[in-house]
Amino acid sequence: MQAQILLPSPRLPVLFIGHGSPLNVIEPNDFRPQWEALGREFGSGWPRPQLILCISAHWLTQGWWLTGMAQPRTIHDFGGFPRELFEQQYPAPGAPHLAQALAAELRQPGTDRPLGVDEQAWGYDHGCWGVLKPMFPQADIPVIQLSMDYDRPPADHYALGRQLRSLRERGVLIVASGNVVHNLRTMRRDAPRDQAYDWAVAFDRHVGEQIAQGQLDELQRFQDFGEPARLAHPTHEHYLPLLYAAGAVHAGESVRFFNEGFQGASISMRSVVWS
Ligand code: ZN
Repeated sequence: MQAQILLPSPRLPVLFIGHGSPLNVIEPNDFRPQWEALGREFGSGWPRPQLILCISAHWLTQGWWLTGMAQPRTIHDFGGFPRELFEQQYPAPGAPHLAQALAAELRQPGTDRPLGVDEQAWGYDHGCWGVLKPMFPQADIPVIQLSMDYDRPPADHYALGRQLRSLRERGVLIVASGNVVHNLRTMRRDAPRDQAYDWAVAFDRHVGEQIAQGQLDELQRFQDFGEPARLAHPTHEHYLPLLYAAGAVHAGESVRFFNEGFQGASISMRSVVWS
């Protein structure tokens, strides 16, 4: 039976997950076991979510949209990987009624207009299913994806994150999936986890310090960090999901980092749990 309303619940944490390579979901690596362990905390320490709202670096649109299909497809939005990766499926149900209700309740930043509901185009991209599959392998919690309007400034993304904050007391787990540093052009495939470019380390540390100190408003101004910021994000779609997660945080919440370190010397895998 599809959930049609969200019931009040103890506040759920908010997650930012560094997803890195699509291969992380199938190949042995340091990072996936932490995603699996985090998933097991729901239903033991934290309540089981009624709904997962996922903001992925890989769904960029004009305006902001929610997926509204009953059974979203698994999208293999990458190329040049082994067949096993293309065979991966994440059959979690959508939540069409909740998508309609949330779209009507939320506002496109800076306007009075509701969000759009996408019933055709999208599904679950690899930024979403690549982390949800290890966390919630049963695929039995409904998932809605929220797109990002890439043409809009960081402040708008943060503002929409603010609107999501109260959903955490209605059983919604917010999972933002991107990377704190993401430069594919400079990747050195064989670099170990503790080796990265100086600019990558500098930007990752800068962002980590802002988060640790609760200076979340400052995260919107990441481009002010100069050359390391430009190198860390030649395009900034992998940074933006962090602004949704940070926007949904209440003042004074505790912060926990995990999966610190790098993939290929220029992808930070740093992930954050606020609760
Ligand atoms: Zn990605």
